[in-house]
Amino acid sequence: MFFAFKKKLSQNFLISSEYIKKFNDSVELLCDSKNKIIEIGPGRGAITDGLYNIFKKNLFLVEIDRDLYQYLQSRYSYIYSNIFHKDFLKFEISQIVFDEFDKVNCVGNLPFGVSTPILFHLLDSKNFIDKMCFILQKEVAMRLAAKPGNKAYGIPSIFFQAHYEVEYKYEIPPEAFFPRPKVTSSVVTISKKKEQKNIDYDESLFKKIVKESFSKRRKKIENSLKSLVGPEVIFNYKEMRPEELSVEDFISITKLMKL
Ligand code: SAM
Repeated sequence: MFFAFKKKLSQNFLISSEYIKKFNDSVELLCDSKNKIIEIGPGRGAITDGLYNIFKKNLFLVEIDRDLYQYLQSRYSYIYSNIFHKDFLKFEISQIVFDEFDKVNCVGNLPFGVSTPILFHLLDSKNFIDKMCFILQKEVAMRLAAKPGNKAYGIPSIFFQAHYEVEYKYEIPPEAFFPRPKVTSSVVTISKKKEQKNIDYDESLFKKIVKESFSKRRKKIENSLKSLVGPEVIFNYKEMRPEELSVEDFISITKLMKL
């Protein structure tokens, strides 16, 4: 297929058969083939063949590039109606969910330029999404999986880990892609927490508290949160900096604020 790469769509295609297999094996291990699965940005189908072999008619594709969309339609004509020509940031996952038992998994070699907005868009649909497996820039992957005390720990780590277990799996070198990206990539798996502890809290308040804390990352909690919460609420944490607080600590502060 003749194709002119579009840099603005972060088109770095995976070309290493070793890593294509390794990624598809990770997805197969993680995701139940009875559930629906969306590949975000399938491109020229590097990982799509393997996914189709596992998931068949449960596989959905969302690609923004018109040329690639047309190519995918002819290559995967047997799932024609599952292929969407769409910006994933505007794709509503609910449109492929038909009842409460319908779980959706999402995978892909995410376009670097919009990987963070895509991750937050997925989080907005967390009620429908069970598992995810992505190839991301190493730095973004580390931020998602980071634990308290790590310098990569921050808003994405906390927002994701409030609902999902995030596992940093392995790296993929730049030469596994064409065109070659400047940075190393990493694979992460993201699985919905089985037991949703502390489910009963005001999520928008939780997000506000986390954002406010990290907007003044170097300050102690007693200073960064003083405009939002009273001293009794942060008593146990006041000497700490935001990167030292766990997801559960932020949830506790949120709950105390509601009392
Ligand atoms: N999956 C292919 C692979 O691994 O070789 C392609 C991965 S490439 C890094 C990213 C793909 O996402 C490209 O096909 C690009 O056109 C597509 N893409 C970029 N922005 C997108 C968006 N907002 N929504 C959906 N697809 C997008």
